[in-house]
Amino acid sequence: MSKQKLTSISSLGEFGLIDRLTNAWPVYQKSTFKAMGDDAAVIDFGKEQTVVSTDILTEGVHFDLAYTPLKHLGYKAVVVNLSDIVAMNAQPTQILVSIAVSARTSVEALDELYLGIKEACKTYQVDLVGGDTTSSKSGLFISITAIGKALPNDLVYRKGAKINDLICVTGNLGAAYMGLQLLIREKEVFAVNPNSQPDLSQWDYIIERQLKPETPINLRKKLSDMGVKPSSMIDISDGLSSEILHICQQSNLGCRIYEEKIPIHEQTIKFGYEIKVDASIAAMNGGEDYEILFTVPMTDFETIKRYPEIQIIGHMVEADKQCALVARDGTNLILEAQGFNHASSVS
Ligand code: ADP
Ligand code: MG
Repeated sequence: MSKQKLTSISSLGEFGLIDRLTNAWPVYQKSTFKAMGDDAAVIDFGKEQTVVSTDILTEGVHFDLAYTPLKHLGYKAVVVNLSDIVAMNAQPTQILVSIAVSARTSVEALDELYLGIKEACKTYQVDLVGGDTTSSKSGLFISITAIGKALPNDLVYRKGAKINDLICVTGNLGAAYMGLQLLIREKEVFAVNPNSQPDLSQWDYIIERQLKPETPINLRKKLSDMGVKPSSMIDISDGLSSEILHICQQSNLGCRIYEEKIPIHEQTIKFGYEIKVDASIAAMNGGEDYEILFTVPMTDFETIKRYPEIQIIGHMVEADKQCALVARDGTNLILEAQGFNHASSVS
């Protein structure tokens, strides 16, 4: 992209730009009655309830364009939002994308961003139905609003966990954090020696988890096919520790999470070993995994056990027993919002 002549946004104008980015956009959802092109989109869910969530990504805070391809950034920005809808046990259906761009950003760069957004829309079968475009003094801002639907009885909140419920998690944790550490390290190496050509193929999994994450869109259907209704649910954007604390606080309960049960990919362990960061700490505190954490009644144990992509990692306890991680050596480490504290233990 660097060799081709880049088009300035001002040469297209705002409407020309919006048209170029969104024209002939596919539609996947029946509920999308009117997408881009009028003053507002029109969505019709019939008797289902509407679920809405929004997130903003800021250059330099949430992403670094030095190592983030814009196409991946567009994809990730969508996934980050859809995981919030998935975490309500709802089906994501539409998104709105708002961008603020500086004069430094070319039209071709935005083409790339929207290619990633389009790919995510296809993967997750959601429709782009609107957004806003404006300028920024410096840096790129992307704000995405995701819309979804669910029958009122199917929605799952953070507050519904009960004593003895099993705590379950999809996929594996900590990989996105390790991927980020690797990319930061490589950026520093590159700054010192621009000719370095590192072989990163052995770390493909953790890099992908950082740059192009996925959220378990099929979980809702899988659980419903199994006849399992989760009692509480949340997405893992900030690390297991802070997410389970949200469930505990809102459900007025404590928990026990077993360190040895936390699913961790082998590359996460291997890279953690290389940079001397414990993989469990990355899982507890790292964030950006976009997996789903949920609780189910103990009676669903045998059913859940049959699914290798869902791991049972602990259970809910009375509030006075607090929230703790049971370490491999059997000690209980009290969970705090920023992870867990090795200095404090409970029985
Ligand atoms: P308004 O003046 O009502 O804000 P705009 O000219 O900003 O309208 O937008 C025209 C249409 O294009 C609207 O349907 C809007 O939702 C859509 N749109 C604007 N910017 C974007 C964007 N960055 N991505 C997707 N759709 C957009
Ligand atoms: Mg507008």
